[in-house]
Amino acid sequence: MNSYGSEDNDAVFDVAIIGAGLVGLLIAYELSRYRLEIAVIDLHPEPGFGVSRAHGGVIHVIQLPLGSVKSRLAIYGNRMYDRLCRELGVGFRRVSAILVAQKVRQLIYSPILYLLLKLYYGARGFGVRLVGGKTLRRLEPNIVGFGGVMVDGYGIVDSFRLIYNLYHELRRRKIRFLLETRVTSIRVLENYIALETSRGTIRARFLVNSAGLSSSDIAGMVDPEYRSLTVPKPGAMIVFDRTQTRNIVAPIHIGGGETKGGGIIPTLWGTTIWGPNLSVARDRCRDRCTSTCSTPRDLFTLIERFSGIVRVRGTPVKLYVGVRPSSRNGDFHIGYSKRSRRIVNLIGIESPGLTAAPAIAKIVVWMLWRGGLELRRRRRVVDHERSEAEEPYRDIETDPGDERDIVCPCMGVSMAHLKEAVAKGVSTLDGLCFYTRLGMGACQGQNCLGRAIVELSRLLNIDPRKLRKGYGDSWVVK
Ligand SMILES: Cc1cc2nc3c(=O)[nH]c(=O)nc-3n(C[C@H](O)[C@H](O)[C@H](O)COP(=O)(O)OP(=O)(O)OC[C@H]3O[C@@H](n4cnc5c(N)ncnc54)[C@H](O)[C@@H]3O)c2cc1C
Repeated sequence: MNSYGSEDNDAVFDVAIIGAGLVGLLIAYELSRYRLEIAVIDLHPEPGFGVSRAHGGVIHVIQLPLGSVKSRLAIYGNRMYDRLCRELGVGFRRVSAILVAQKVRQLIYSPILYLLLKLYYGARGFGVRLVGGKTLRRLEPNIVGFGGVMVDGYGIVDSFRLIYNLYHELRRRKIRFLLETRVTSIRVLENYIALETSRGTIRARFLVNSAGLSSSDIAGMVDPEYRSLTVPKPGAMIVFDRTQTRNIVAPIHIGGGETKGGGIIPTLWGTTIWGPNLSVARDRCRDRCTSTCSTPRDLFTLIERFSGIVRVRGTPVKLYVGVRPSSRNGDFHIGYSKRSRRIVNLIGIESPGLTAAPAIAKIVVWMLWRGGLELRRRRRVVDHERSEAEEPYRDIETDPGDERDIVCPCMGVSMAHLKEAVAKGVSTLDGLCFYTRLGMGACQGQNCLGRAIVELSRLLNIDPRKLRKGYGDSWVVK
């Protein structure tokens, strides 16, 4: 079987990318500057439905251990975000992170922390300051603490706009998206790599494995020693319906531990996230499982950690869980397959993978070139090419009334937003909620999901019984 069309039977892509998460999309974006035939393969119906669907949305600065691959790539990636978000029209705001001393022990520790951070991050161009109690109250009136250490250069990003705007732009640049396609085995042949998938064979000269939680298993299809290198580590986050802080705020974390312990994170749309924590995987969470693992314990850990630090909180509206694809040594592994330099594996891309993703993309392109991929620059994409380009996405007419026709009152989502979402490639209810944040307000969708289902089916021109929540047979209406 080959469902990629009979003319494509002999087609060989220059590069196949397994995984349409943030990392895979940014690699495709970087490669799309060159004259290459590129395919992005993902088992989900829309991009970003793996690890990339549930995270904190923070563009980090501090990442332990200092000097690790993930720490260095976070610094490079961080610096690329202003330009990237401008290019793609994605919401992004620079903020600082304040590590707050709530206890005397933490206050004693803050000058040491300040010196350490100043030495490492100050030297790399990030502002690091000691703040006293008065300055803290002025900067963050809603926060309780004696003072702390402030690090500039953090960011908060609208990561779903980033995903869908990349998806839209890549399709415009003729990148092939082979969705709902699961890679089941890989053969390295003399002239190309053959990927056996749930929809037939795909051939490519070069392969990038950015399959998130499954990347070590995918790497293991060629090099068995890579199998089971990834350990799933869930992290829970609570969302509140109001802004609590201007900056990212976290209590000073003394002692080791695998994460920085999460923080109080403002979002671009007036809500606040507490978290993420780090809990032990209760089962072997895989690509299908990103939201089913929260327990009351997750909730209590977050409340215990953050409730003493914030004066006014608002109402908690959601608890969600993401699953980190941690590697056994706790660092990113970015390397060639042992069998072939035509395959690049990305394993253990946990936090700060969102931050590091643009830098990872640059490195992967360089590795492909070192592995033998010829890179010839494309002419700049100019506007007249845009209009001539075959637009594979839906062109939906909006009228002035759409802006005022509100579908989700809590989050202010209008018909115009729904139409925009479908035009960007949304085809499921989850995709609509991620793109527009519909249903993520105080009423949790009670007032809007019914209408959203009807309107989305109408815009997609399908029967509501054919509308899916997300993956597989997740029919919304039975
Ligand atoms: C709780 C939590 C909080 C986080 N917070 C932050 C943060 O604040 N800042 C930050 O920088 N980072 C953060 N991260 C990390 C960041 O979210 C991830 O590093 C990043 O999203 C990983 O993206 P990815 O593209 O590598 O993986 P994914 O998004 O998982 O993409 C991989 C894709 O591969 C597909 N796939 C898998 N197997 C197959 C197969 N066999 N065939 C076809 N397709 C397949 C999947 O469907 C998936 O879509 C957080 C992570 C978690 C879990």
